[in-house]
Amino acid sequence: MIALVTGASRGIGAAIAVKLAGDGWSIAVVCRKERELAEEVASLCRNCGVQAEAYAADVSREEDCRQLVEAVRTALGPITLLVNNAGMNRDGLCLRMSREQFTSVIDTNLTGTFLMCRSVLPDMIKARQGRIINITSVAGLYGNAGQVNYAASKAGVIGLTRSLSKEVASRQVTVNAVAPGLIETDMTAAMPDKIREQAKEAIALGRLGKPEEVAGLVAYLASPAAAYITGQIIEISGGLVL
Ligand code: NDP
Repeated sequence: MIALVTGASRGIGAAIAVKLAGDGWSIAVVCRKERELAEEVASLCRNCGVQAEAYAADVSREEDCRQLVEAVRTALGPITLLVNNAGMNRDGLCLRMSREQFTSVIDTNLTGTFLMCRSVLPDMIKARQGRIINITSVAGLYGNAGQVNYAASKAGVIGLTRSLSKEVASRQVTVNAVAPGLIETDMTAAMPDKIREQAKEAIALGRLGKPEEVAGLVAYLASPAAAYITGQIIEISGGLVL
């Protein structure tokens, strides 16, 4: 039971790594550059009595993904659960968005998800078992002003999830996505207070979600109880209406 979680140095990814460790998974904690934070998360995972190692890799780089999966296989074993959580946003209105601002977000959120899936699939297919859980967003389902790059990347992840689930189901590999609404992390802390308050009014439960709440859903999708779920996009947004 080896799980690799990208973007696990903080926020939702860190909560997922610790929750899965509590459920008995050995964990590869992956960040892009904040290696010390990833080491701290790996140490929290080890406190749960499982093996855990920290890695730095940029998921938008093909060679990084290949080397990462190889290093994890050597240190912990073949990956049976991949959580594609690494993500970024660079918000702005379409009219003023540079091509680089658009493609950098696609490269990490969508191409990174593709590259990581492609890197782990040979081991999963060989083992005739595996779980892939992609973190998308309500922005990918409904769109959001100021986020054409981010929403397009997350809508792409939804299409990737549904398509890949159909390619690998016969090998007993499931592929699902989780679509959070607004969750309390560094990403939403960067929002201006006024926008945050306005956003809260659009949430039926009247508050932002916690990373641990998203982690609970991911842990369920990784568990034996979810063996018959594939190709699904599950929203966790407190009833947010965009
Ligand atoms: P944070 O900004 O708090 O953390 C992002 C994580 O992704 C960090 O660990 C960062 O590593 C890593 N990362 C970013 N780019 C890359 C890259 N190219 N390669 C490898 N790692 C990378 O994000 P959140 O915890 O808020 O979000 C996690 C996921 O959930 C994202 O996919 C996000 O889009 C999605 N989401 C978040 C919502 C929210 O409200 N917070 C709502 C809906 C979806 P490092 O620090 O080393 O750069």
